[in-house]
Amino acid sequence: MWKKPYGRTGAAISVIGFGGMRFANPADLDASAALVHHAHARGINYFDTAPYYCDDHSEDIMGRAFRTMPRDSFFVSTKCIESDGAKLRASLERSLTRLGVEAIDFFHIWCLLRPEQLDERRKGGAIAAAQRAKEEGLIRHLVVSSHLDGEDNAAVLDSGLFEGITIGYNAINFPFRAKTLEAAARHNLGVATMNPLGGGLIPRNAQRLAFLKGPQDQDVVQAALRFNVSQPAITCALVGFSCEREVDEAVAAVENFTPYPADHIERVKAGIGAGFAGFCTGCEYCLPCPTGVPIPKFMDTFNQKILEGTDRAMTERLKWHWSLPAADAAACTECGACEELCTQHLPIRERLREIAALA
Ligand code: SF4
Ligand code: SF4
Repeated sequence: MWKKPYGRTGAAISVIGFGGMRFANPADLDASAALVHHAHARGINYFDTAPYYCDDHSEDIMGRAFRTMPRDSFFVSTKCIESDGAKLRASLERSLTRLGVEAIDFFHIWCLLRPEQLDERRKGGAIAAAQRAKEEGLIRHLVVSSHLDGEDNAAVLDSGLFEGITIGYNAINFPFRAKTLEAAARHNLGVATMNPLGGGLIPRNAQRLAFLKGPQDQDVVQAALRFNVSQPAITCALVGFSCEREVDEAVAAVENFTPYPADHIERVKAGIGAGFAGFCTGCEYCLPCPTGVPIPKFMDTFNQKILEGTDRAMTERLKWHWSLPAADAAACTECGACEELCTQHLPIRERLREIAALA
């Protein structure tokens, strides 16, 4: 298995990581733990879990598997969403017990959805509690997981608090996160990428996304995984596995694979613009909006409708990904300035009206 250094931590992690949020039958701890063992046997050594995943079974599943795996053969990543320091400590201790390990290798300050949340975690004592736990040896590396866009993530990494970051990154949404990768590279930090297959969007739109495929790729799933792991700033792609076949396919995607050179990555990125008429590429040329409308976030939301064909795809994107009320789209005064600048000539005003109507 191809491994990369996770920033400057000294850990070498497999470029495919096990995302522990998609077990087929999480209540069956033994069968689920067997899937973890299968992945480990195939060379995966980075296992990502969290409280609440899979009806709160995921940490127990991982713990059951870890108890029979040599401790120096794997890295465990888990998370805590609390702002309060005492609550973070309680959550960490619960995770340690459930996972059956003496220390969490990669402990995430979990799920930044709004830039001010980093300050909330600071003021509530969560960051200090995590740092204390690190000094005690209960946490090896303090990292962060974020749904912020590139610039906000760059500010999070510039804070110097973290040794790495987990972000959603794939061949569709990469423009929104480009500045994250630049900041991570600047500070020599690790980057784990979740959602490398766009939550299933990429395989579901295989024909439309055929331009992702390079000469070595059998299908768009391979192409999408390789798109992520070929990039020097990305350490690993986390895949949520539910069966052995999925593990084997992901492992096959990176075995005997020569990372794609920068010009291929650039060709794929250009293909998003050229092959996707009507698709927002996240270039941000439309900004700033005089009334502060976060246009790229709303246009990314509309991308989901283009791909999935439903309003629900938009409401879910707004709620779970951007944490943005649909009503905020109504702040548009229809001045038209953004449409003159839009590199994709999108009908931004019309789309904002459609999004505002979801409120
Ligand atoms: S048209 Fe609306 S979104 Fe575009 S710049 Fe003007 S106010 Fe902002
Ligand atoms: S300029 Fe157009 S394509 Fe670029 S982010 Fe703005 S809306 Fe999207």
